Amino acid sequence: DTNIFARILRRELPARIVYEDEHALAFHDINPQAPLHLLVIPKGAYVSWDDFSARASEAEIAGFVRAVGHVAREAGLVAPGYRLLANTGGHGHQEVPHLHVHLFGGRQFGAMLVD
Ligand code: AMP
Repeated sequence: DTNIFARILRRELPARIVYEDEHALAFHDINPQAPLHLLVIPKGAYVSWDDFSARASEAEIAGFVRAVGHVAREAGLVAPGYRLLANTGGHGHQEVPHLHVHLFGGRQFGAMLVD
């Protein structure tokens, strides 16, 4: 309840919001790692991809997946291409315990994994 993204959802912290619907909120990452770096989060309090995929309703899952696709499409990233990333748990280097999908775009990306 007290993590940064829960607080952004409650509008207790500012964010550069680009999209919102019933199931999801999308906003700019505060420390962008690409020309465009957005975060898309579900509105429900799910700590990770694991938690979300196990507990969320069909409607929440469909709504969230559609929102990620919509945000990328609206950002003009379909033709050039983009990258999605959902860090999960310790080995995944997840820092904020509210599920978020990173959406990176605006340049050519290289190999999959860097330390
Ligand atoms: P992760 O390591 O996948 O948990 O990523 C957390 C991300 O949240 C990082 O890319 C941070 O730059 C980003 N972040 C942290 N605080 C904020 C904030 N207040 N607004 C937007 N993005 C944030």
